[in-house]
Amino acid sequence: MHLEEMLAFNKQFVEGKKYEPYQTDSIPNKRMVIFTCMESRLVELLPKALNIQNGDVKMLKNAGAIIRKPFDSIMKSILVAIYELQAEEVTVIGHYDCGMSHIQPGNLTKKMMDKGIPEATIQTLENAGIDFHDEFHGFDTVEESVQQSVSIIRNHPLLPSHIKVHGLVIDPATGKVDVVTKQD
Ligand SMILES: [Zn+2]
Repeated sequence: MHLEEMLAFNKQFVEGKKYEPYQTDSIPNKRMVIFTCMESRLVELLPKALNIQNGDVKMLKNAGAIIRKPFDSIMKSILVAIYELQAEEVTVIGHYDCGMSHIQPGNLTKKMMDKGIPEATIQTLENAGIDFHDEFHGFDTVEESVQQSVSIIRNHPLLPSHIKVHGLVIDPATGKVDVVTKQD
């Protein structure tokens, strides 16, 4: 259980006032939202590689940096960041060697059943209109996927026209970023 270690560390952290260098407010200094993958190799590497300090950006993540529907929770968070927290740029950052590039929804439901989810539960959800392929499918190339997420944001009916939306791909080994699309 790593949680116990974390809780013990936290006590020391707070008592030792280790938080002091990180104090800031909730308006992102760089006026930017970054939307990226939950990839654990990027937890520290991505901010370091782009010189992002605490307080600089709003950071959103999901599996694959994928937006496919205009009112999913990521898109709603982007709109809140823009309207409530002064964000003016949105940067979608996919990465090479992403787990979502080879996820097979069929294999995923099999893994769910292997872990004890009854097939009947999956059937019931499918009958209720949950399309497992739609919900969990990944992508063929990360560049196309980033472009697709960027397009949904840029074309969103509630996105103000002054907001810039960019798309990057980062190498999870070196931190090097390639630009897929950017707005000046
Ligand atoms: Zn990923």
